Amino acid sequence: MSALALAQPDQPVEAWTGKTILLIAAHPDDDSQSHGTLAMLKKNGNEVFILTMTTGNVGTKDPKLSRNDLAKIRRQEQLNAMKEIGLSEEHYINLGYDDGRLEFADREEVVGKLVYYIRKLKPDVLLAFDPGYNYQVWQKSDHRAAAYLAADAVRAAEWPLLYEGQIIQDKLEAYAVPEFLFYGGNISDKNTIVDISDFVELRVEAGTKYVSQWSSGWYDYKGSDLKAYPEGEEEKVYEKIRNRIRVIDGKSVERFRYHKGAPDTMGHAPRD
Ligand SMILES: [Zn+2]
Repeated sequence: MSALALAQPDQPVEAWTGKTILLIAAHPDDDSQSHGTLAMLKKNGNEVFILTMTTGNVGTKDPKLSRNDLAKIRRQEQLNAMKEIGLSEEHYINLGYDDGRLEFADREEVVGKLVYYIRKLKPDVLLAFDPGYNYQVWQKSDHRAAAYLAADAVRAAEWPLLYEGQIIQDKLEAYAVPEFLFYGGNISDKNTIVDISDFVELRVEAGTKYVSQWSSGWYDYKGSDLKAYPEGEEEKVYEKIRNRIRVIDGKSVERFRYHKGAPDTMGHAPRD
């Protein structure tokens, strides 16, 4: 059996309780592929935070929208979606970077901000884009930037002499994240399947809040209410979001690559 297959959580994700969970994303909707898992974790007594690095302010083909308009629309969509899965605004952090430009942002600054929140929230489990396993996963630009920025921040957070101002001035402590669930990676690397059967409806309801992204609002935004869109639009959006959920052996699931241990080993099989 491969080392990857062996790397499983001690307890199934469905049994987790009392943990602090932090999901790091690039855009306000990257968390949606984990909404079933997040809804379950929240219901089971875990504290769940979502940190998004960009405002999503260029994700539209609607020429009427400005960056400012879109940043506001997408923040509200994100908060509306989070509300459906039981998460309040206090559990949302947005770093405010420009959409599509994350890999050109000041790396030291972005990593410093991520390190700050990792040290402050002390997540037991971090969800992030998969940086790859024995190779780099090609992802679109903000996603690949987010994968590496999160990994680099996790590594930096545990060294007290890195970003030491946070420790001296902000009274935070160095912190090592013990466990990871990576999303967005290759299916062949996924080693953990979460049964979200009881949370499908919540995931679908949350998904329908991203009207600017997953409806004809992408081309012609008419507000956050799907009823303001052409006839049949609302049903189509629900169907599209429902069809995105994977079904394995009759169960609705979300899949991750689980990793436990030092961040230095998150990207490769055991080496000498
Ligand atoms: Zn994205």
